[in-house]
Parts: sequence; structure tokens; C-alpha cells
Amino acid sequence: MVKAEQVCKSFGHVEVLKGIDLEVRTGEVFCIVGPSGSGKSTFLRCINHLEKINAGRLYVDGTLVGYREKGGKLYELRDREVAAQRRDIGMVFQRFNLFPHMTAVENVMEAPVQVKRTPRAEARKRATELLDRVGLADKVDSYPAQLSGGQQQRVAIARALAMDPKLMLFDEPTSALDPELVGEVLDVMKALARDGMTMVVVTHEMGFAREVGDSLVFMDGGVVVESGNPKDVLGNPQHERTKSFLSKVL
Ligand code: ADP
Ligand code: MG
Repeated sequence: MVKAEQVCKSFGHVEVLKGIDLEVRTGEVFCIVGPSGSGKSTFLRCINHLEKINAGRLYVDGTLVGYREKGGKLYELRDREVAAQRRDIGMVFQRFNLFPHMTAVENVMEAPVQVKRTPRAEARKRATELLDRVGLADKVDSYPAQLSGGQQQRVAIARALAMDPKLMLFDEPTSALDPELVGEVLDVMKALARDGMTMVVVTHEMGFAREVGDSLVFMDGGVVVESGNPKDVLGNPQHERTKSFLSKVL
């Protein structure tokens, strides 16, 4: 579903991604862990067209992200083509970024109505089902300010699902939550994983990674230091940098 080959990204003279190689298989939960500043968010943002890579190749579902290759040369996609690629990818951020002036159901139906031109009644029905799926059937008409952080994040997940993505990206989805609200969001993510969604999850929740993750990479300094089965990498890290990081977070 995702393939990165020597993906590099710089901001000015600062090289943030220094040749990322990884592969995310369809239907798996792929966890990315690593210290702050190691390039985890930047990598997710590259997958979702929020940043452009400087070198290497990045594919989603077999298609080059943001570029077309012709005669060995790369050509940037047009805005409309980029929008079409982005439509298949859902992203959930640390901060929920809900529209504050819209109710939960309006937040969830917004993209289908605006982007896919789904009729409002149909979009509302589907949004209501999605809110039910994340355990918020009774909060359909609530505004974000009336919801807890955990509830807002579940609305954000439902909103991402409303576009029927083939890939979901999570960037530390529980980091901004009070500890007692983390579980309800992880439970929704676990259910999503059980339903077969392909998920790339940047997280500090090692319990989630161990229990739900199919693969895990440890990133540091813009490279993948170590990768494998989460239980192996977390339980028996091979590299000093991984050991040192895990000793601080576990
Ligand atoms: P992580 O998510 O692992 O904490 P990030 O991908 O957010 O790491 O950031 C990696 C590095 O890239 C950091 O040093 C950060 O300051 C830098 N960086 C991220 N985005 C930008 C940007 N838009 N402009 C300049 N530097 C950036
Ligand atoms: Mg980050």
C-alpha cells in the first residue's frame, strides 16, 4: 500500500529525511516510533502531499505520489491529480482540527458533500453511521466545544473515514489527550484495524504498537534505524539508539 525508496526531504539546508526505505502491506497496522524531531510527521506529510519529497520514490497503492514518471524523468502532477490522490488517504492529527462552527455530523459530512458532491441527505445518513461506529451515536448534533478531547478525536476519525480512504495515517492521535481519554481512541483504532484498514500510526503508545501493530519501524535522525515485528523490536531491540529511546518511554 505504501512503498518508500530512499525518500529524502530537506527544509532549506536541513535534511530531515535521509533516505527512508519501508513498505506497508495492504491491511496491516504499521507503527512508526522514534524521538521528537526524527522526521515521523514529515514522512506522513509526504505520503499525504502536505510536503514534497526531494529525492527517492514514494508510492501509494502502486502509484507514484505527486509525480508522473516518463522516460526516466519525473513530472509534477497537476493540482487536480494531486487532489485525486489525496482523496484516498485519511489523516488524523494530534490536534483534532474540527470545524468549530459545525456539529459532529456536519464535520463528518463536509468532505463528501464538498469534494465528492454526495447529496446532503445521503452524506448525513452515512456520517451518522460513522459516528455510531466510533461510539458517538448520541453526539451527532454536538459542537466540538461540547465534546471531550477523546470524543473530538473520534469525530476526526469518522471524518477521515467518510471519504472511504484506502489508507489511514495517524500522527500521534492520542498525544494531546488526557490519559483517561486515550483508551477510547485506541479502541476505535483497534476496531478499524480488525476491519482490515491499512493504517500507518505514529505513536508513543507502545502497548498499542505491541498489541495491534503488524510492523514497526524505529526512526531516529531521519533514517529507519530498526524495523520488524513490534514485539521483537520493542522486546529485543538490536541498536543502541533504539534501546536508549525505549528505556525512556517504556
Ligand atoms: P517528528 O514528527 O519525528 O517529531 P518532524 O517531522 O515534525 O519530527 O520534524 C523533523 C525535523 O524537521 C525537525 O527538526 C523540525 O524542526 C523540522 N521541520 C519540520 N517541518 C518543517 C518546516 N516546515 N520547515 C522547517 N523545518 C521543519
Ligand atoms: Mg511529529
